[in-house]
Amino acid sequence: MLPEQKDYYESKAKNIKVEEQLTKKINRKTTLGEIVDEILAAEKKEQEFQENMLQYINSIIAIGIHHHSLDQMKFMLVHANWFYRREVGINQYDFCPAEFALAEFSFERGVENVYHEVVSAKIPLGWKRDALETSRETHKIPIEHPDGQSDFAFMYTQFVKVLESNMTGDKYPPLFTTEDLVPAIESLLRRMCQAAGNFISGKSMNDFTIYSLEQLFTALLNAATKDTTKNCSIPFVVAKHEFGKDTFCSATGLECDFHRILDSSQHCSMSIVKRWGFTICDHCCCYLDIPRIEGVHYPLSRPYFNSPNSGSFDIHISNLSINDYSKGERHLNEWCK
Ligand SMILES: [Zn+2]
Repeated sequence: MLPEQKDYYESKAKNIKVEEQLTKKINRKTTLGEIVDEILAAEKKEQEFQENMLQYINSIIAIGIHHHSLDQMKFMLVHANWFYRREVGINQYDFCPAEFALAEFSFERGVENVYHEVVSAKIPLGWKRDALETSRETHKIPIEHPDGQSDFAFMYTQFVKVLESNMTGDKYPPLFTTEDLVPAIESLLRRMCQAAGNFISGKSMNDFTIYSLEQLFTALLNAATKDTTKNCSIPFVVAKHEFGKDTFCSATGLECDFHRILDSSQHCSMSIVKRWGFTICDHCCCYLDIPRIEGVHYPLSRPYFNSPNSGSFDIHISNLSINDYSKGERHLNEWCK
């Protein structure tokens, strides 16, 4: 073989090898058939998201402490119940909503400005059994409830109206929910955005950020107890476990009208966002020198006694009763032995 022929074949072989390597890289698959590079990219994106979330939570709390305004800071809490969960992609689900509640929380005023809906969405034939079972085991809301709200564009408008009073520049405040509920909240927002998109241009999921309520609770708890713990930082797993105990799950008078009639408040979205607020206050108020007010920082002892307006802040203030039971302090002694 002539030297120039040899060069030609060697160069061709090299090109084929490079092409093979590139093809292999693109087609490198896991047993589940998912492209490895895509998974790695998703993991990196998730890691960056987690870092941004922690940075946001820590910086906003640091600003609050520095300016002595932590008690006035508003955090948006959101909870949703659903009828069924349908997988629509890798780690992506469509939840058929049954009920949701969005609320403002601050140490000063507790949970207020609750936007709540019992939702009525069409259940496809193949999903009715799942929907009935989920309803029976949890929230008890009937499927395709005639009094439920079915206009998702309307719900979008009402939802963002609550957020608009807490915007930073042109950005909505982050929504805080428990980590297990993130896919359900994403799905709810997707439905609302899609419906609103038919009427309002430029409405997209990217306008919303969903952060971990357990991470917020951990950061608030550590900030509140900083001077007390002597370098003992309360770990996320401990705080998350404590938050998950749902101390006020048997409190009455926190539920929506539908669940009040049903005498079933434990799974009610409105009751749950209020209980989240009470749990945060229960653990943090005593360290932040915030006097605990019945109905604002812990549930009313006689919720149905006052009036149908017993949810209003003014009535709570008139019923002022300072509770000095420092439960948070007791927990802290256990965690920081
Ligand atoms: Zn309810």
